[in-house]
Amino acid sequence: MPRYDLHCHSTHSDGLLAPAAVVARAREHGVDVLALTDHDEVSGLAEASDAANAAGITLICGTELSVTWERITIHMVALGIDPANATLGEGLAGIRSGRSTRARRIADALAATGIQGAYEGAMRYVTSERLVSRTHFARHLVAAGHARDMKDVFARYLTPGKPGHVAHDWATLSQAVGWIHAAGGQAVIAHPGRYPVSARGLRRLLTEFRDTGGDAIEVVSPSHTQAQYVEFATHARVLGLRGSGGSDWHGPGESWMELGALPDMPAGVVPVWKDW
Ligand code: AMP
Ligand code: MN
Ligand code: MN
Ligand code: MN
Repeated sequence: MPRYDLHCHSTHSDGLLAPAAVVARAREHGVDVLALTDHDEVSGLAEASDAANAAGITLICGTELSVTWERITIHMVALGIDPANATLGEGLAGIRSGRSTRARRIADALAATGIQGAYEGAMRYVTSERLVSRTHFARHLVAAGHARDMKDVFARYLTPGKPGHVAHDWATLSQAVGWIHAAGGQAVIAHPGRYPVSARGLRRLLTEFRDTGGDAIEVVSPSHTQAQYVEFATHARVLGLRGSGGSDWHGPGESWMELGALPDMPAGVVPVWKDW
């Protein structure tokens, strides 16, 4: 069976390697079918596609959309999109423009706690002038000695309730699903185990997603425990959603799982790639 990895990032969002280098690394690690899913962005897909053709692996065009649902941030992976689709392109451009104003507010919030110059610091880590993310703030804050490592800096400063976190409205769930479908893709709820919701809230999220036309749940993810593979496989079966899997790889030394190092999809789940 081919080896799938359907979630990873490049320098076109908050990853550390250029798209072609991500593809080369995926191939070295035995990936046959790779989706590049940069946050709110499709600009890396042309380079990734060329690299995949040259390397003899299959590139699935993807992106990972930022969504606000019941005031929490949800990520939605899109798979098999047409990167030239105007509806999706405009939707993503809208999300990205919100990121610039948010970055200023994050820097202001950090300044209020005594950390000056975080905006300029984060900008030194930005690798695409089109997109700034908390990851870029995180890399700067770690380098400047405000935290030990990436995990520590998010826990101390950049997550809800912490001094450098600001609330932000991204796209809605139904907008995101609509844009993905307009572009011919499948909509996947990314790493559902990561969201700060109760079991009941999670069922509500997944049910609303399914009712909005959503296609799949990311079952296999480094954000999940073995027990959660089983839990999300069950949700997928019960709700009639397919299952996806991805390493969410961001860069050497910064990721919980290597490209392509995913365990198998639990039995009984219809994989998102069934009709590819
Ligand atoms: P943003 O889209 O700007 O809110 O940034 C979200 C990104 O921050 C995620 O895609 C991850 O790459 C990164 N991130 C979030 N939480 C953590 C964490 N606890 N440790 C490391 N990276 C994280
Ligand atoms: Mn990221
Ligand atoms: Mn994510
Ligand atoms: Mn991701």
